[in-house]
Amino acid sequence: MSYGTMTCPFCNATVLSNTIRRYFSAHGTSEESSLNDACELLVSGTFCPNCRKTIFTAQYTGLKMPANTIIPIYPLSPARQFPDYIPESIRQDYEEAYSILSLSPKASATLSRRCLQGMIRDFWKISERTLFEEITALKDKIPASQYQAINALRQLGNIGAHMEKDTNLIIDIEPQEAQYLLKLIELLLQQWYVERHEQEKLYADIVDTNNIKQSCRND
Ligand SMILES: [Zn+2]
Repeated sequence: MSYGTMTCPFCNATVLSNTIRRYFSAHGTSEESSLNDACELLVSGTFCPNCRKTIFTAQYTGLKMPANTIIPIYPLSPARQFPDYIPESIRQDYEEAYSILSLSPKASATLSRRCLQGMIRDFWKISERTLFEEITALKDKIPASQYQAINALRQLGNIGAHMEKDTNLIIDIEPQEAQYLLKLIELLLQQWYVERHEQEKLYADIVDTNNIKQSCRND
């Protein structure tokens, strides 16, 4: 567990690390094992003061254990809940990519790639033969750094989707790497859909307010 902040998967609020409580830990040490072999399982509960729910995760630690492996218990996936005005197929790909993150980072990366394609088609109304062509058509509409990250997501997703020409060559994607892709999907959902929605709402509110004021003046 990184002791910074986390986003509550129930309500999207930022939760500070000081609300984390460790409820349970099991040590995997014995008299024969050296410090090098020591490992521990930690089950943590993080209380969200905003929605008053507790998020449970499990994590194992130890020098020989994989780093940064946080396994969600409740909810089963740390996927954020995005609003209904984002198409369901896109939210579903995102949530599935998150739910399979620890079990199969490769499958998760492939789903992130599919999710990205859905977003480009729906949000930007760009539909080409391949995702490569769609991203190329998007290039001039987004910042250069975002274009590079999106293109990298496409290529990483391809690792999961296609067998290498040499089937003995195994290129794995680590959970941490697949999680970067999900963070990018979250950022794009936020910057494209949520911000557009909030902007439009603000503009409409201002126009409505003005209409009411003007009609008062004319009366
Ligand atoms: Zn919450």
